[in-house]
Amino acid sequence: MNRNQVLPLTTLSIDPQTLERVDLTLPVAYLGNGFLTLQDLPRVAAEAHHILDGDGFECSIQTQFLKDRVVLDLTISGHLRMPCQRCLGDYEVQITDQRRFVLVSTEAEADDFPLDDDSQEPLVASPNTDLLATIEDEILLALPSAPKHPESVCQLDPSAKASEPESPFKVLKNMKKKN
Ligand SMILES: [Zn+2]
Repeated sequence: MNRNQVLPLTTLSIDPQTLERVDLTLPVAYLGNGFLTLQDLPRVAAEAHHILDGDGFECSIQTQFLKDRVVLDLTISGHLRMPCQRCLGDYEVQITDQRRFVLVSTEAEADDFPLDDDSQEPLVASPNTDLLATIEDEILLALPSAPKHPESVCQLDPSAKASEPESPFKVLKNMKKKN
């Protein structure tokens, strides 16, 4: 195989219908950039507290030949609003994620894929590869398990958190004073 093989460039449109069925077996290099709203990503939307216009993710997908393999580079950048675990208010969670997938032909090949490099993962290339599911999986993996505002901006009243129960001795002292 020619190591420097250049595949013909094909534009991939970043919309749910296209991404749900991408033929990754074709000898083409895909290039796509676009925005997915949370409505396009139902499993991610399920994690959101509120959804406002503009919530969603810029996605970029590029496939290319690299060292005799076809790799797919996925870049995701955007935000959603999750409930803050401290004050239960909206917490805008920013996600920026980059992942390189190495395309393989079979599930068996994916199972044998060496796991020594976290930055690369196998992806089984089929005529109907669901890249929308891949994008959703990546975002879900990147979400914090217990999202919390930084303390300085959390809406929870800091005095409520800092106040300690009154010492029983102090209470007793005050009672004595009154008598
Ligand atoms: Zn908060």
